Amino acid sequence: MNNKRDYYEVLGVSRDASDQEIKSAYRKLAIKYHPDKNSGDKNAEEKFKEAAEAYSVLSDPEKRARYDRFGHSGMQGGFSGFDPNIFGDFGDILGEFFGFGDIFGGRRRSGPTRGADLRYDLKISFREAAFGLKTKIKIPRQDSCTSCGGSGAAKGKPPVTCPTCKGAGQVRYQQGFFSISRSCGHCNGTGRIITEPCAACQGKGLVHKEKVLEVRIPAGVDNGARLRIQGEGEAGSHNGPSGDLYVIIYVEEHPFFQRQENNIYCQVPVSIVQAVLGAEIVVPTLEGEEKIKIPEGTQTGTVFRLRNKGIVSLGGRGRGDQFVTLNIVVPAKLTREQRQAYENLAKVSHDDELIQERNIFDKVKDIFG
Ligand SMILES: [Zn+2]
Ligand SMILES: [Zn+2]
Repeated sequence: MNNKRDYYEVLGVSRDASDQEIKSAYRKLAIKYHPDKNSGDKNAEEKFKEAAEAYSVLSDPEKRARYDRFGHSGMQGGFSGFDPNIFGDFGDILGEFFGFGDIFGGRRRSGPTRGADLRYDLKISFREAAFGLKTKIKIPRQDSCTSCGGSGAAKGKPPVTCPTCKGAGQVRYQQGFFSISRSCGHCNGTGRIITEPCAACQGKGLVHKEKVLEVRIPAGVDNGARLRIQGEGEAGSHNGPSGDLYVIIYVEEHPFFQRQENNIYCQVPVSIVQAVLGAEIVVPTLEGEEKIKIPEGTQTGTVFRLRNKGIVSLGGRGRGDQFVTLNIVVPAKLTREQRQAYENLAKVSHDDELIQERNIFDKVKDIFG
């Protein structure tokens, strides 16, 4: 024990190093001295082992505190040279470099695992997006088996402790200086053995089901909105937590309204007579028809704003507006009577000439000098 190097020295960090510094220092050393890279090099092997030991102590706040107070002698007793938990840490730190999963026998945690997240694409109408809706969706998913409550064991035949690993789920091998933990093959790492599998799920604890779920889509959702419904994804295995369900919203286009954020836009045709004389016209809104007054001499392209006739904001606070653009429609066909009326109008009207002179010819003259 006395000839042991100081753990901080081994990792090359100061005594007040942060957890992150310790982790990254260890990671560097572990990569440098890893046996895969230094096969047959006894010195590298020792260095690797030394770093792993130092890390196993300094990465654990309780052990680190004990080491800080008592030095190596403080590590006696509870600490027996090489902490088996260190393999777990290897997995975290080095897994992506060396494929430790293989060396240490697959996944570390083969107990309960979280179920997968699911995605459901939901198409809704423009109106439904504006006002929200309650709808039922069918989700095919892995669900916890109701016959066995997810345990996978037949009724009255509860799982027993795995005799191979004594319930630990892991078996340890000694291989050179390595002590290797491997997921127990007998019980698949669960620590328990099903003596008689549940007939409904063949012992898996999960069954394929089509779940009907009622979802409430809030008013104001827009195209591409993503709603997360916690715990409605696939069931976890071995009674692990369920994943989440993501509902992705697709809003159908509306033949009349366009939406931009919470405002809606539309175009309404008016006749020449209405535009000239002024009129009360009917405009469709999300909640039915609305009358608006257009004044005498309204120009084509004039925009009217109907406050609070847009879409409620998703948070429920406030509401957008509706913008109505007026399009003056010139009649393509006239009755004889109408034609007469327009001809009479022409006799008393000179403004067509005025418009042309002022607006067009002046501008053209400007361009050509
Ligand atoms: Zn079952
Ligand atoms: Zn086992």
